Amino acid sequence: AIPLVIAISTSMSAKAGILVKDRLALERMRTVDAVLFDKTGTLTKGTPAVTEVAAVSGHTEAELLAVAAAAEYASEHPLAKAIVATAREHGPVPEATEFQSRTGRGVSATVGGSQIAVGGPALLADYGVTAPAELTEHTESWAARGATVLHVLADGAVLGALALADEIRPESRQAIAELHAAGVRAVLITGDARNVAEAVGTELGVDEVFAEVLPEDKDSAVRELQNRGQQVAMVGDGVNDAPALARADVGIAIGAGTDVAIESAGVVLASDDPRGVLAVRRLSLASYRKMT
Ligand code: ADP
Ligand code: MG
Repeated sequence: AIPLVIAISTSMSAKAGILVKDRLALERMRTVDAVLFDKTGTLTKGTPAVTEVAAVSGHTEAELLAVAAAAEYASEHPLAKAIVATAREHGPVPEATEFQSRTGRGVSATVGGSQIAVGGPALLADYGVTAPAELTEHTESWAARGATVLHVLADGAVLGALALADEIRPESRQAIAELHAAGVRAVLITGDARNVAEAVGTELGVDEVFAEVLPEDKDSAVRELQNRGQQVAMVGDGVNDAPALARADVGIAIGAGTDVAIESAGVVLASDDPRGVLAVRRLSLASYRKMT
């Protein structure tokens, strides 16, 4: 009877757009206690846009955008692409040399003789600087609305800040509500700042938020939940999600995820709709019933 069972569940999964790479991972899905979702690109669309710009006195917003875009020019990150696109609408982007990417933190490069750095809270901490009050006045309300705030530094001094907003996928809220209805916890994990993560988490009704998690630490969050006795599914799309996908009891790569994410996952969803996680759970429950 086993081949028939496999044939049935294979056609069920194909119809639902689910590629099962690891059958044991699929089987574990029916008893998962918590689903850990990556924020950017998974619960949100992952295509941010610049929504606000503020420069410290003595500098213009146009200047700030131009140097930030120059430093970000060589970066593949969605935040970088958004900054470059916006800067181009306002004027030319200057040349940069000595580009350096700092994973989970930001970028730095030399632009017009100054060392420019662009990044989030971890980058500010690396430089040991804090933003002046004339900026936090703006940035605190941007972050409270769920925008990602990046600071721009010139030779270690804060030049200004940018807000980037990423749209929450309309299906995310329903996916989380359906998990709750099934008695499964929903947890958000992100490299983004704590206040942004909390804003998105509250909007979506998740049970717990892991924020400011560096890429190399995402799998520790999975382990922390496992140490609390929870069986964990991790859902992600990015290179930085791969170790967590591999660590989880069930690793689920979503949509047009990166190759590394797909390689590390036991289950791959064809679409980028987070409700696919519920479809994986239904498939797991159905396959299990057939086998016993
Ligand atoms: P996520 O976990 O949400 O997918 P990442 O680990 O890629 O996010 O990035 C975490 C944080 O690192 C971002 O929110 C941002 O603050 C900073 N960051 C990463 N890459 C860049 C970049 N190219 N420019 C500026 N900041 C960046
Ligand atoms: Mg991501």
